Amino acid sequence: MGKQLRQIAIYGKGGIGKSTTTQNLTAGLVERGNHVMVVGCDPKADSTRLLLGGLHQKTVLDTLRDQGDDIELESILKEGFMGTKCVESGGPEPGVGCAGRGIITSIGLLERLGAYTEDLDYVFYDVLGDVVCGGFAMPIREGKAKEIYIVASGEMMALYAANNISKGIARYARQGGVRLGGIICNSRNVDREAELVRAFAEELGTQMIHFVPRDNDVQRAEIRKKTVIQHFPDSKQADEYRELAKKIEENDKFVIPKPMTQERLEEILLEYGLMDDLKDDYRI
Ligand code: ADP
Ligand code: MG
Repeated sequence: MGKQLRQIAIYGKGGIGKSTTTQNLTAGLVERGNHVMVVGCDPKADSTRLLLGGLHQKTVLDTLRDQGDDIELESILKEGFMGTKCVESGGPEPGVGCAGRGIITSIGLLERLGAYTEDLDYVFYDVLGDVVCGGFAMPIREGKAKEIYIVASGEMMALYAANNISKGIARYARQGGVRLGGIICNSRNVDREAELVRAFAEELGTQMIHFVPRDNDVQRAEIRKKTVIQHFPDSKQADEYRELAKKIEENDKFVIPKPMTQERLEEILLEYGLMDDLKDDYRI
C-alpha cells in the first residue's frame, strides 16, 4: 500500500551504453528488493539479453505479426534475473516506416494485457536517443515515464546527443510532468571526463548522478550474456552499479532541463580540455 511505481526512460546516443547500464542498474535495484520491468524500445532489441541470459526474446512486433492480436502476456514478457520482467518492442528494418511504432504498440498492449501490476516498483524504457520520429518520444509524450536519465560520456557526440534529448524533454515537460533526474556518465576514459560531464550537467540544471567507470568486466560478463552483478558479484564494477541503483532509488532532484546552444556546448568542451591540443586551432 502506498508504494509508488516509478516509470523511468533511459535515453542516450546509440552505442553509449544504455542497455548495459539499464540492465546492470536493474540488477542492482532487484538486489535491493525491488520488482522491475524493462521495456526495450530500441529496434536493436537487445535491451534485456543480459537479464534473460541470452534467452531468445521475440519482439512484440514480431509476435503480433506471427500470431495476430490474440496473444497472451507470456508470449511478449519473459522473466529474467531474479524475476525481472523483460519486454522487447522491436521495430522495422532501418529506413522502413516509423521506427518508434514498436514502442507505441508495446505500451498499449502491455496495458491491455495487465503487465503493469501492483507489485512493480520500477519500469524502465530503454530508448534509442537518435530521435528519428515521434515514436521515440512516446514513453515521455504519453506521460508513461515521468523520470528521465540520459547516458552520456565526455565525448562530444555523446554530449551533443544529450543536449538534443534535453530539448525534447523540455518540450514535453511544459505540457506534462516529465522531469530529468540526471546524467549517468558512462566513461570512455576521456581526460577530465567527470569534471566535464559534471559541468555539462550543471549547465543543463541537472546533476551527474553517477560516474560509471569503463571496465572490461562489462565485456567479460556480456559474452556470458550476463550482467556484471550476476557474473562478477564481488567485483568493483558490480559495486559501481549498486551505487548507481542506490543513488537512483534515493534521488530527489528532478528538473526541466535548460538545453544550451551549440556554441555554449563547444565552450564547455574547450574549457575542460577535451581537445587541449586542438585549442589553438579552435581559437584562431
Ligand atoms: P546502447 O544500448 O546505448 O546502444 P550498449 O549498452 O549496447 O549501448 O553498449 C555498447 C557496448 O559498450 C557494449 O558492447 C558494452 O559491452 C560496452 N559498454 C557499455 N558500458 C561499458 C562500461 N562501463 N565499460 C566497458 N564497456 C562498456
Ligand atoms: Mg541498447
